[in-house]
Amino acid sequence: MDFLTDLDVKGKLVFLRVDFNVPLDDKGAIRDDNRIRASLPTIQWLLERGARLVIASHLGRPKGKADPKMSLAPAAERLAELIPNKVTMAPDVVGPEVARLKAGLGEGEVLVLENVRFYQEEEKNDPGFAAQLAEGIDVFVNDAFGSSHRAHASVVGIADRVPVRGAGFLMKKEVDYLKKAVHTPVKPYVAILGGAKVSDKIEIIESLIGKADSILIGGAMAYTFLKAQGLGVGTSLVENDQLEVAMVVLDKARRNAVSFHLPQDHVLARAAVAGAETRIVEHLPFPEDMMGVDIGPKTVEAYGQVIAAAKTIFWNGPMGIFEIEEFAKGTIGVARAVAASGAVSIVGGGDSAAAVKKAGLRDKISHISTGGGASLEYIAYETLPGITALEK
Ligand code: AMP
Repeated sequence: MDFLTDLDVKGKLVFLRVDFNVPLDDKGAIRDDNRIRASLPTIQWLLERGARLVIASHLGRPKGKADPKMSLAPAAERLAELIPNKVTMAPDVVGPEVARLKAGLGEGEVLVLENVRFYQEEEKNDPGFAAQLAEGIDVFVNDAFGSSHRAHASVVGIADRVPVRGAGFLMKKEVDYLKKAVHTPVKPYVAILGGAKVSDKIEIIESLIGKADSILIGGAMAYTFLKAQGLGVGTSLVENDQLEVAMVVLDKARRNAVSFHLPQDHVLARAAVAGAETRIVEHLPFPEDMMGVDIGPKTVEAYGQVIAAAKTIFWNGPMGIFEIEEFAKGTIGVARAVAASGAVSIVGGGDSAAAVKKAGLRDKISHISTGGGASLEYIAYETLPGITALEK
């Protein structure tokens, strides 16, 4: 795979796929511009070398229809504040007006396309749409690590319709760190998985059984595993259609030399609201009207010991409903243990990254990935569709 620094971009029309999927407030203002800043090194490198730069991204889930609330215009405005170059916002993603604006771009100038997901063809990786995106483009650069687990037109379809292609700096940084964890992890390698959605992560857990030395489970995911073993988990969030798969994973873990940990104690509440009365329990079943909202202190201690011995750590997903102060202790405790471990530590996913920042531990983590889903899939499959497309 070529990287940016291998490419000649002077005077070339460059299509740069970034991840400008920034969170917006009710008024449409950007709440956090980290994702825009994360691609600045690539953008600046290209512009300083005289590229004529077309930037594309998705934002939110417009489901194939133009929706002004999910326009990339605020992102283009913010970009214009961050760089001295001329930045123009396109009225569309493809079409005659966009073609005219592309053709008129000067060296060191930027055209930000509208949200690529305003077209349903984007997520379908439609060949005609990919060809339209590629029209007139000399070089394709992918810096959207966080979108590269999706085989979409602006990530995958466009790649082999353009003469030259390569990865941006953000993509390279992500892949370099993750490669270290996947291909040559220094042992012990500990994976910590939490969050709510088991279905998203179960295949990944399965693939980690052959790789990691220890797997620590927290968050709502733990209750699906506990219920799969026939234990009563009260009103805890459970994915009932994943119980069988959870059993398969538990069996596989037992047969392999991986130590698979479920929480030893739990923080329970009657409702997932701030100020709710909580109770710490070690034994199941839970009372029928209570739900697990966090891992308990014994679990934090036990997980902390496994983490302290680790040399490589991958963490995705909070240990509880950490958005509520009273239920955040488990997640913060794990964040502290990871930070103190001295291991190569990779944290992926918006929630775990937010927890690390909230605890003021950002500088103590080796790498905070910009892509939650993408980093998980990379760990499991050792590549992503967006990376394979660049390698062709
Ligand atoms: P995910 O997107 O799968 O990583 O899930 C993240 C979400 O999981 C966060 O919003 C957490 O509040 C939520 N979560 C973590 N633990 C629990 C739990 N015990 N019950 C319900 N939701 C949880």
